Amino acid sequence: MTDYYNTLGVAKNATQEEIKKAYRKNAMKFHPDKNRDYPDAEKKFKEVSEAYEVLSDEKKRQIYDQYGADALKGAAGMGSARGPGGFSSMEEALRTFMGAFGGGGSSDTIFESFFGFDSNPQEAAVRQGNNKKMNLTISFEESVRGVEKEAIIYNYAACSSCHGSGAATPKGISKCSRCQGSGQIHQSRGFFSMSSVCNQCHGNGSVITDPCKECEGSGRVKKKQKITIKVPAGVDSGMRLRMAGYGDASPDGGPSGDLYVYINVTPHEFFQRDGDDIVLELPVGFAEAALGCKKDIPTPLGHTCRMQIPEGTQTGKVLRVKGEGVENVHGQGRGDLFIRVIVETPVGLSEKQKELLKAFGALEGDHNSPRKRGFLDKMKSFFTN
Ligand SMILES: [Zn+2]
Ligand SMILES: [Zn+2]
Repeated sequence: MTDYYNTLGVAKNATQEEIKKAYRKNAMKFHPDKNRDYPDAEKKFKEVSEAYEVLSDEKKRQIYDQYGADALKGAAGMGSARGPGGFSSMEEALRTFMGAFGGGGSSDTIFESFFGFDSNPQEAAVRQGNNKKMNLTISFEESVRGVEKEAIIYNYAACSSCHGSGAATPKGISKCSRCQGSGQIHQSRGFFSMSSVCNQCHGNGSVITDPCKECEGSGRVKKKQKITIKVPAGVDSGMRLRMAGYGDASPDGGPSGDLYVYINVTPHEFFQRDGDDIVLELPVGFAEAALGCKKDIPTPLGHTCRMQIPEGTQTGKVLRVKGEGVENVHGQGRGDLFIRVIVETPVGLSEKQKELLKAFGALEGDHNSPRKRGFLDKMKSFFTN
C-alpha cells in the first residue's frame, strides 16, 4: 500500500511548505543525474515525485487521504498508463520536478539552476539587451571605397563595480523567499496546477538586499563608448549595417542587443549611382567633340583614366570604363563607369571667334551634319505628301 507521506518523510498534517521542502531534499538525493551508480535512484525519484504531485495538490491530497492512492488512478492530470509504485516514465517524474522548481530544458540545466540560483539566473529567464539604432552619413567616395568611421554610443553596459550582479557584495543578493528561487509561483486549482512568474523577483529567483551604489541594483550603467564602424565598399543610402552585440547589455546576464547603422550617402556633384554602375556627365567643347580629344578623368575609386573622345562625337554618346563602378556589397562583382558626353555650344564668343565660325559655317556642307540633313528631308516629305 502506497504511503505518500512516508515516501516523502513528512507528517500527515504537513504544511505545503514542509511537503515542498521534503520533496526538494528527496529529489536532490535521488535525482538520477547525481546517482549514476545507484540503480534504485530512478525508482526512488519517481516515487517521491509522484508523492509530491499528489500531496502538493490540496484536492488530490484530500482524495488520497479519504480513499487512498487507487482512487487517483486515471484522474485528470495523473495519467492513466501508470504502472504500480510510481510514475511510469522518468519524463513524467522530471516534469513534476520542473514544475516544482522551475526551469526548462534538460535535467542537467535544471540541476545547475537548482543548486546555483544565487549566482546563475535560469537560462529560460534571461533576456537579450535592447537593439540600438544610429544614422551614419558618409561621402560618395567613402561609399564606393569603403571606410572605417568612429562613433560615440551611449549603451547600457554591465556595471563594473558589481560585475552586473546589482549587489554591493556577494552577500547582498539572496534567494527570493516567495518563490524559493524558482522564479515561478505555483498555485493549485483543483486538479490543475498553474504557474506564473513570481511578482517579488520578476522571475529572477533572487532579490537584491544590498544594492550596488554605482548602478542602484540594476546591474547596468549607461556607458559612453567609442566604436569603430566598418562600412564595406558598395553600401548605398538606405542600407543598414548590423553590428552584433553593440546594443544594450542584457538586464539579466543574457546576450547584448545589436546596433543597426542606417547609412546615408551624400550625393556627389558629378557622379551618380545606378545600381552598381556609376554615371558621369562629361561636358566637352564643340571643337573638341568635332576634332576628337583625350580627357583624363578621375574615377570614384581614386584612379585616373585617360578617355579617348573620338572625332565627331555627338552629345549624349556614352562611353564605358569597365570595372570602375561600385563593388557589389554582396560580393557579386563590380559595376562599370559610364561617361555620357555632353557637347557644349560655345558662349561669350569674341569677335575673332565669331569671324572664324562664320567662315566655318560658309564652308559647312550637308555631309557635315548627316542627322540634320536627314531630318529636314523627312520633314519636307511629311508636308508635301
Ligand atoms: Zn553595480
Ligand atoms: Zn521570486
